[in-house]
Amino acid sequence: MESTMQEVPLTLTELFHHGRRVFGSSEVVTWEGGHARHSTFHEVAARVERLAAGLRSLGVQPGDRVGTLSWNRQEHFEAYFAVPCMGAVLHTLNLRLPPHQLAQIVNHAADRVIIVDASLVPLLAAIRPHLPTVEHVVVVGGGDHGDALGEHIAYEDLLTRSAGGFEWPELDERSAAAMCYTTGTTGDPKGVAYSHRSMYLHAFAVWGAFRLSDRERVLAIVPMFHVNAWGTPYAAWMLGADLLLPDRFLHADGICSFIQAERPTFTGGVPSIFSGMLAYFRENHPDVSSLKRAVCGGSAVPASLIEAFRDELDIELIQAWGMTETSPIGTIAYPPRDTPPEDEMRYRVKTGRAVPGVALRILDEDGSEVERDGVAVGEIEVRGPWITGSYYNASAPEKFHDGWLKTGDVGNIDPLGFVQITDRSKDVIKSGGEWISSVELENLLMGHEAVADAAVVGVPDEKWQERPLAVVVFRPGASATPDDLRAYLGDSVVRWWLPERWAFVDEIPKTSVGKQDKKKIRADYAAGTIEAVQVATSGAPVR
Ligand code: AMP
Repeated sequence: MESTMQEVPLTLTELFHHGRRVFGSSEVVTWEGGHARHSTFHEVAARVERLAAGLRSLGVQPGDRVGTLSWNRQEHFEAYFAVPCMGAVLHTLNLRLPPHQLAQIVNHAADRVIIVDASLVPLLAAIRPHLPTVEHVVVVGGGDHGDALGEHIAYEDLLTRSAGGFEWPELDERSAAAMCYTTGTTGDPKGVAYSHRSMYLHAFAVWGAFRLSDRERVLAIVPMFHVNAWGTPYAAWMLGADLLLPDRFLHADGICSFIQAERPTFTGGVPSIFSGMLAYFRENHPDVSSLKRAVCGGSAVPASLIEAFRDELDIELIQAWGMTETSPIGTIAYPPRDTPPEDEMRYRVKTGRAVPGVALRILDEDGSEVERDGVAVGEIEVRGPWITGSYYNASAPEKFHDGWLKTGDVGNIDPLGFVQITDRSKDVIKSGGEWISSVELENLLMGHEAVADAAVVGVPDEKWQERPLAVVVFRPGASATPDDLRAYLGDSVVRWWLPERWAFVDEIPKTSVGKQDKKKIRADYAAGTIEAVQVATSGAPVR
């Protein structure tokens, strides 16, 4: 059959026009510490056009990369539409990376322009001499930048360069719209380029997976430099949900003040954000009653956190999984329909079921699909229109397999399709040839009343090649002995899983996006910076 339906390209430009036409009175709210700045979609859209015109006046052409070094705020959101819709590529820069990696990424992407928040100017100034491809720097917000930065343009001046209006080009839906680099905990960061088509479809996936609508006020805590804040800004815009942006006020007190003042109904973030918020709530009792649901992912979500959110805050904490390479939505963990309330946690603590559009399979070491029995483990592979097919200017054949992305995550899948990640493949603990799930041990430990945070990593062992080392942070004023914690774990796991080595620290090392930095924990242990006590003898894997 020749032709069927209209060939409307799936581009962010379509979403931009839709949000503007239909939801002009919805708002973007930026927290400025103590007070909020409100702009309607109508006002934001006009500024998006002016930004596109301003960038064009600087010579930005289709395909050029425009970097942003910015917190979650209205101007960053303006770039989210202006840059891709003018045909250029939005390169969101992770402001928590070490300076040399930041420079490496800007140079690898060959960014021509960088839009930077005034508060982040010192970070950019430090690497500016090492960025030969960057022709223009645009500074958002006031302040004296001295000579440190060299020549630059004020964002608001750029916006006044045109009289308004912009001729949006017709775009190929397969062209790149945005790019984001992986955080590089296992090697050099690699670039993932998202197409218009993938971001358009992903926005619809976010709509469905997060169950959003124009009734919501969406608080985007996930940084806009990390996988497009999980696509929530685009989904909010196209659905007319208000978008609440916390800028740099990401500590629990800042977030809670923002919540109290602006009353979001929905949010998303990594577990460490929510555990910080919970601790703050317990001390200070801010009014967070507007918040009904929060999607949580980026690392495994402890059962104790989901329960505390339900029981103490009346917030549904919903676990999801994804990666930079998957745009990121891959799975989400809603209990199946008709689950009695007392059984819901069984599903909520899992990594979730694949969202429509994502195909998921788990392969064992021989390359065969594992039984869907919730027990057999293997590496998760995914496929779909918003899963990357390659890395930007980098060859990584080991990450792909017959058109599927090898996620590097290891887990099992049950008959209902619920996936449970047990480890990153590089973090797997293999003791005497048998796997121990660090994720499960961490999850259990975090349920102990004295424990605020916990990480479990594999360390060399003479007899068993590897044994688990538990690294624990206590809650303020609380403590427990290794024997207490072993006894506690012993109620839930087999004996040979119990760690003999225990380290008690003030803080678990975290990566630039707030995940446990297990590579650093292992290195610190090897270097003796993390000191462990050893109790009991190594438990033997019992088969
Ligand atoms: P990133 O590309 O930095 O977003 O990291 C992606 C990785 O985060 C995944 O490959 C997983 O290892 C981890 N991750 C994300 N969500 C979860 C989750 N719900 N449970 C366990 N690990 C997760």
